Amino acid sequence: MSGDVLQHTDLRQSRRFLETYSPPKINGEFAGKHIISVEQFDRRDLQILFDATGSIRRRIKQQDRGLLELAAGKLMATLFYEASTRTDLSFQAAMRHLGGEVVAASNGVHFSSVYKGENLADTIRAVGCYSDAIVLRHPDVGSSYEAAYYLDQLNKQIARQVIVISGGDGVGEHPTQALLDLFTIFDFKGQIDGLNITLVGDLRHGRTVHSLAKLIARYQAENVVLNLVSPPLLRMPETVVQYATAKGITVRETDDLYDVLPETDVIYWTRIQEERFDDPADYEAIKDRFIMTPPVLAQAPDDAILMHPLPRKHEMGTPDDHDALDADPRAVYFRQMENGMFVRMALLAKVLGGLWV
Ligand code: ASP
Repeated sequence: MSGDVLQHTDLRQSRRFLETYSPPKINGEFAGKHIISVEQFDRRDLQILFDATGSIRRRIKQQDRGLLELAAGKLMATLFYEASTRTDLSFQAAMRHLGGEVVAASNGVHFSSVYKGENLADTIRAVGCYSDAIVLRHPDVGSSYEAAYYLDQLNKQIARQVIVISGGDGVGEHPTQALLDLFTIFDFKGQIDGLNITLVGDLRHGRTVHSLAKLIARYQAENVVLNLVSPPLLRMPETVVQYATAKGITVRETDDLYDVLPETDVIYWTRIQEERFDDPADYEAIKDRFIMTPPVLAQAPDDAILMHPLPRKHEMGTPDDHDALDADPRAVYFRQMENGMFVRMALLAKVLGGLWV
């Protein structure tokens, strides 16, 4: 089934739910809350979540079987309308490590009733009838807001609290990626305050960088400099820049990496999102603009860290460059990836309201 058919099955405009549906603030209480935007979190919520993540990581490494109590008897459904490796598998692994169960359409969403033209509002409620939490990845901005709205309607009818967790809303947000990214920065740098953080590449279409920039702002970190490095066509959306600036972050936009690289503490490299371009010529024109290779990394400080949400393609050079970068102690993207499972375990345990450590 082609992506086109999927995009045309739902004539409702998911984007309008961004205006009409307010995601619940966490305010220290995660149980029963949908997770659809980083704007739900404040500094205290993040501290709670990251403490829990650290504890879960220790317990996983010690093979603590007690973790299997945390989501025992709960069921998580995955509903992925777009491709995924890390988000999909880390959520599934997280749920299993917590003793919960996982369900998904047997042959992927393309072989569910989505193929027959069912819209998101109906599909999400169908899946909600059979699960406690749904991880949704969808190409439309606002789709997880729409899902939350319809699950709220369903929950009244079935007298249960089924929640949706966004696994990425098109070019909008990817909140759980930002949670694992910020956790990883903490892990390696010990704090967020005072850091010089550089986001590089496709800042226009990259949902991970939209969410990360906003989450750094939600943390209300002090003296943070956020460098946004991209070709002019791929600049960070103005709404995100304003969001960060309004929360006291110093934002610098440039298309010259070497302006900022020598003083960077955290380098966050991104893929040019080829699948999001309307005109392939635009992609061709800029795809080679920022390539991370060992000589480029050599310009960064010795104690910088290099992150990437992955998958990576040519924006990290050739396969030989990949290998050389991987061998550099500053490259932390595989540990970032592993942290994804720990953060998602902590989040699932908390939103499903299980017993807690
Ligand atoms: N895996 C990330 C995402 O789903 C980053 C990427 O695809 O480039 O947004």
